[in-house]
Amino acid sequence: MADRSLRGMRIGAQSLQSEDGVVFADRADYTYQCEACGRDTVMTFSTEAEIPEMWECRHCGSSAVLLVDSKPVEIDRSGEKVARTHWEMLLERRTRAELEELLQERLNYLRARRGQQKIGA
Ligand SMILES: [Zn+2]
Repeated sequence: MADRSLRGMRIGAQSLQSEDGVVFADRADYTYQCEACGRDTVMTFSTEAEIPEMWECRHCGSSAVLLVDSKPVEIDRSGEKVARTHWEMLLERRTRAELEELLQERLNYLRARRGQQKIGA
């Protein structure tokens, strides 16, 4: 919250300073849609500035995602997540109970095969 108002003041101060014959940077409104409450937060940035993809929702304080052509931009979250292990991916597709059952089936199969081999040998 404090961060946002500071940024807002900074933009205003720069605009006042540059009033004397200096060309104003173009500014545009950017809309952020809240991931939590779904409401929009509109921010004005210089078009020359790097536009942040996330902003704080001014209604509930959650993170809001920049809208481009009325659609939320894709946020690259790959850096935030620790790489999943094969085991975790497996757990996303099957419940633990299912896995236990598969394991048991497999063990039974192996034991049965080992038993047959013994008999054969
Ligand atoms: Zn919100």
